Amino acid sequence: TVRTRFAPSPTGLLHIGNARAALFNFLFARHHGGQFLLRIEDTDKERSTQRAVDVIFEGLDWMGLTPDEPPVFQSTCQARHTEVALELLAKGHAYKCFCTQDELKQMREQAQAEGRPPRYNGMWRDRDPSEAPPGAPYTIRLRAPQEGETVVNDLVQGEIRVANAEMDDMIILRADGTPTYLHAVVCDDHDMRITHVIRGDDHMTNTFRQSQIYALMGWERPHFAHLPLIHGPDGAKLSKRHGAQSVVEFKEEGFLPEALNNYLLRLGWGHGDAEVLSRDEQIRLFDLDGVGRSASRMDYTKLTHLNGVWLRQADDDRLTAEVLQRLEGREGLRLDAVARTRIRTLMSGLKERARTLVDLADSAAFLARDIPLPMDAKASSLLTPDARGLLRDLAAALAPVEPFAPAEIDAALRQFAEQQGRKLGQVAQPLRAALTGSSMSPGIDATAAALGRDEVMARIGAAIG
Ligand code: GLU
Repeated sequence: TVRTRFAPSPTGLLHIGNARAALFNFLFARHHGGQFLLRIEDTDKERSTQRAVDVIFEGLDWMGLTPDEPPVFQSTCQARHTEVALELLAKGHAYKCFCTQDELKQMREQAQAEGRPPRYNGMWRDRDPSEAPPGAPYTIRLRAPQEGETVVNDLVQGEIRVANAEMDDMIILRADGTPTYLHAVVCDDHDMRITHVIRGDDHMTNTFRQSQIYALMGWERPHFAHLPLIHGPDGAKLSKRHGAQSVVEFKEEGFLPEALNNYLLRLGWGHGDAEVLSRDEQIRLFDLDGVGRSASRMDYTKLTHLNGVWLRQADDDRLTAEVLQRLEGREGLRLDAVARTRIRTLMSGLKERARTLVDLADSAAFLARDIPLPMDAKASSLLTPDARGLLRDLAAALAPVEPFAPAEIDAALRQFAEQQGRKLGQVAQPLRAALTGSSMSPGIDATAAALGRDEVMARIGAAIG
């Protein structure tokens, strides 16, 4: 059965490039009825932090990418990494290298002088360890094949070949006894019975080196799929100046996880012209043959549009909770049960106009304000002496409406406008200004109904002063 894994290093934020790799691993496993696993690659103790581990857990949880088994912490597998290295050594597939720092430095300098990448010259490959000074520190290096080539049939990039002579003998165990990253990943992927390694194409060269370890251990190599990176809208490496980059930032900017998932999936994967895909559809349709080979460009406008689509489909209770949380701590708001009910009542109208949860919270704030409302410039300009006079009469017309519900309010407004010989907008706009402090809101009938009769009367009263 298919087993995939997401293997982040807990050294910072959960970058959307990584989040997309997690999503693809998750969808691929689900599509094939397999398992999606998580491995925290925390071997670099200097750079790994508990906070970064928490950020990964929280980010995956928020995105609904829950692993099927408890996470594996790479640092806990060290004894096993050592065991495998010693096995390679015992079988003659690895050897002790007593090379000194000076000798390595010379190799680097020589390579630099000749304008080629640094490369270990294999000086201990065929030497007897007894030639080394007693007690001298050593690393363990893989005795990599020098003839032939290593071929990877990448499920995204196609067939790629590298001549083995291009690869030097890499270190698998350092002089202090710790395993190197390349070695640890192979041991863990093998032990976790991973069948498909889906990761960023910045790991492509690692794949060839890792292939050598699989071959020498006689282990079956997993399939590989290397995903193109995500670039900024201008084609340059995605960076801060382009906008949000980490999952937490997108969350804070008011994106729904469904929208971010949907967008990250469509960025670099396609199925016909399907744009908006539910999780079930994603699982049904996803496969690696739909993944493109070239780098994708982050399009924040498109993501924002998609977020609006998902907002309109989202449950009103959930959105109300999100809005209340975002309004928490804002000045001049009273977030009590009354405000909650008003926001919940008007939510279906509010969400029609919002593109993010931040927009949505902004547009709902007026429902939680005390009188007098702050007025924006446009709203103030609507409240002319003529409009105030009109509102005075309108209040009298609205007071007896029963029930105080959208349809009845709408009928009363139309009747009032007709009696006054005005257009509906000439009545509705000053009323909107009085009730919301702005010139934009959901339908004025629904807005008034959500505020309730007493509040509508009080707000009109305050506006006409
Ligand atoms: N820990 C690596 C990273 O965060 C990923 C390794 C892998 O997927 O094999 O880039």
